[in-house]
Amino acid sequence: MADLLVTGVTKSYPTRAEPLEVLRGVTFELSAGENLAILGPSGCGKSTLLYIVGTLDAPTSGRVSLAGSNPFDLSEPRLAAFRNHKIGFVFQDHYLLPQCSVLDNVLVPTLADGRPTPESVDRARMLLDRVGLTGRLDHLPSELSGGERQRTAIARALVNRPALLLADEPTGNLDRATAATVGRLLLELQALERTMLIVVTHSLELAGLLARRMELNAGRLE
Ligand code: ADP
Ligand code: MG
Repeated sequence: MADLLVTGVTKSYPTRAEPLEVLRGVTFELSAGENLAILGPSGCGKSTLLYIVGTLDAPTSGRVSLAGSNPFDLSEPRLAAFRNHKIGFVFQDHYLLPQCSVLDNVLVPTLADGRPTPESVDRARMLLDRVGLTGRLDHLPSELSGGERQRTAIARALVNRPALLLADEPTGNLDRATAATVGRLLLELQALERTMLIVVTHSLELAGLLARRMELNAGRLE
């Protein structure tokens, strides 16, 4: 059975007039080690869908099942713990903590369980090595290039061994050559970690690196 099942997901936002129906029944599934690109123009609902799959926002109707459970059945503290352990996020903006070093930023998701263990520090160092930042562990985000910041964000997203890695326009702020490098790294690490990966993007170049591509069109995935 698939590890991620998304079934008939709809999302409408209330407005002063008619509700805005952004998602009108999105259904797809993904298994460990698989990846999927979701394409579509700006405003079509890609981020909305990714936030729902990432359990950051609830659907209006429909179901999400990840690793055998429906996250929206959980209480808020349990949901936060579930999200922290099962899901890694890479956003268009890196959201690194400006006052923390590269290594400390990668360790942030491990802090929900207390101080970082020697194992999590080793893992953070290994991931930073994989993304080519071994020499930059003590640097601050402001001392890195845009591509290096996104590479740090990728290492942070993977530090807790998530079952699902979600990326929202991860190369949106990067020049073309840097975007290609970051895209390839994302795929390399996904293969290494055998996690599921969903990338939403309007970049055909980035989507071309993934095994499956679907398009969000009028609130449905095709
Ligand atoms: P994309 O990521 O594909 O650019 P979004 O998912 O961000 O698109 O947005 C899809 C549509 O939903 C847009 O028309 C946007 O204005 C609307 N939208 C997003 N979030 C909200 C919200 N919290 N309240 C009302 N409308 C929203
Ligand atoms: Mg978006």
